[in-house]
Amino acid sequence: MPNQSLLIRDIHTLVMMDADDTVLHNAYLYAEDGEIRQVGTGSARLPEADRVISGRYSVAIPGLVNTHHHLYQTLTRAFAAAADAELFDWLRALYPIWARLDEESVHTAALAGMAELALSGCTTTTDHHYVFPRGHANLIDAEIAAARRIGMRFHPTRGSMSVGKSKGGLPPDSVVESEARILADSERLIRQYHDPRPGSMVQVALAPCSPFSVSPELMRRSADLAARYNVRLHTHLAETRDEEAYCLARFGKRPLDLLEDCGWLGPNTWLAHGIYFNRREITRLGRAGVGIAHCPTSNMRLGSGCAPVLALRRAGCAVGIGVDGSASNDSSHMLAEARQALLLHRLRHGAAALGVREALRMATAGGARCLGRDDIGTLEAGKRADIAMFDLRGAGYSGAGDPVCALLLCAPTRVETLIIEGKVIVADGQLQTLALDPLLARHRRLARKLVGGAATLPVPD
Ligand SMILES: [Zn+2]
Repeated sequence: MPNQSLLIRDIHTLVMMDADDTVLHNAYLYAEDGEIRQVGTGSARLPEADRVISGRYSVAIPGLVNTHHHLYQTLTRAFAAAADAELFDWLRALYPIWARLDEESVHTAALAGMAELALSGCTTTTDHHYVFPRGHANLIDAEIAAARRIGMRFHPTRGSMSVGKSKGGLPPDSVVESEARILADSERLIRQYHDPRPGSMVQVALAPCSPFSVSPELMRRSADLAARYNVRLHTHLAETRDEEAYCLARFGKRPLDLLEDCGWLGPNTWLAHGIYFNRREITRLGRAGVGIAHCPTSNMRLGSGCAPVLALRRAGCAVGIGVDGSASNDSSHMLAEARQALLLHRLRHGAAALGVREALRMATAGGARCLGRDDIGTLEAGKRADIAMFDLRGAGYSGAGDPVCALLLCAPTRVETLIIEGKVIVADGQLQTLALDPLLARHRRLARKLVGGAATLPVPD
């Protein structure tokens, strides 16, 4: 097979996101076999390539890395009964709907969610799937098939719930699994799909859902299994005051102490949310090298709170950005999410506390670090060719001065060109790997079927 090569030339502005925070103008990037080989400036003596793209009106950034999602929730966006609720009531309204998920709906939801992510500049996403209705064992497999179809770099996590209502947990018994089954399926998925090599397109992590839906024993055994296969651990933690009260009442411990007792306080763990940590806990998290998936829109939408991510970063935590599930955002726009983080922390700490490029760093290099990847997140020779390019000729950018500031200060737009592993996934703002309209028609039909009698948008037949 000949080397597949790609040259992006005449790039107006290229953000390398390297340690020196280099930004290049009139730049080029050359990639071969999915790997960046050269990044530089000027247009003389450029390497020849199989495919050449012009970046004359574009700002190019490392592909955005989404560190927390529940793709199946694209089927229950803006669900009326959960629209104005906080987390526990929101979950209680949605669990019975999610109990009807199957392979087809999860596959289609993953396709729709990943298409939306790709069109927003995202090249790598994780997903936390934890609802496994009885008889539907292969839901993660269905998601991995979707990622391959779109061409997206994917970190699926084998989520789980094992403590139902009858045992003092929050979810109904119909959506919890036995712990033996969860662990067996976790091991199967790692063995079948996890690829630890540089450039890997699929890496599996283990993700018991939350302190109020799994047992400490499952947390411990998941940590043992993850250590055995050297895969990462993920869960929701310190998301709400209700969760903290539940942990204190049931376990006599704060959420982080519970996590540490289960053997999770280490550099292979990244946590979604992390809002209710006190000062000492932030220091412990930083020392342990735990990562945080910050989900500002979801936290605002559910009224959960504001995560202390600037303090967590100062303490040494890797902090990435996550759109979170589409029933609590209800958008998978990664560029919009980076903007939301910028605005939220400026509201809380002042405009000087978080620079535009630092917010962008969280959404790229920070996310890569959360996922334990040193081969993505920056545009440097030797890294994988995951690139998002935004065309600055649109009405919303007109008159903008600094192109990098424009990306986050102006209204978020659709990506113009998206490259993943050296392959063009979006060109001229259009997804290249899948026909979007038929997919969305199928997705809307499945959403209507899933919510039963509840109101949905009209579905064309
Ligand atoms: Zn979540």
